[in-house]
Amino acid sequence: MHWPKEALKQIEKAPSFVRGMAKKAVEKEVRKSGREEVTEADVRAAYDKYIKFAVNSDEGKDKQKTTKIAVVRCEVVSEVCPGIACFKAFNCRKLAFEQYGPNAEIVGFFTCGGCSGRRVSRLVEKLIPHGLDVVHLSSCMMLKDDYPPCPHKAQIKRSIENKGVRVVEGTHH
Ligand code: SF4
Repeated sequence: MHWPKEALKQIEKAPSFVRGMAKKAVEKEVRKSGREEVTEADVRAAYDKYIKFAVNSDEGKDKQKTTKIAVVRCEVVSEVCPGIACFKAFNCRKLAFEQYGPNAEIVGFFTCGGCSGRRVSRLVEKLIPHGLDVVHLSSCMMLKDDYPPCPHKAQIKRSIENKGVRVVEGTHH
């Protein structure tokens, strides 16, 4: 199949991630019409027919709002936990993070500052101008049974919700 310079210029306007697919689509259409040379009009027609939707849907994905998440965890537990299970659950979109699609990011990861968790309110306030949508209270704040539960969880949660930010209890168990 012969590609004159003008037709090549035209196909190079397609984003790189669809260019290969675009070329094949053009060649298929040209062959169907019994020719062996591509014109600019062929490129335009094939682009409208086969490629435009892929470019538009990808642009649509980029335009989707990103959910900005912060994780608050227990100061005491942080002495023995680097946060690996929280990040693993987020990266795999599992457990408490199952509800998010690809457009989500962790914008803050901090401890409560120690009982009674007064650091949380201040740090949430700092993140709100950066688009904070939701705060997860880490699973280490939810522990029960023989591990003493956080006595300040309800107050910490309320202090976040009072700022208009949604709270989810838990991260990885
Ligand atoms: S306030 Fe709760 S989360 Fe913070 S250190 Fe105390 S027990 Fe842990």
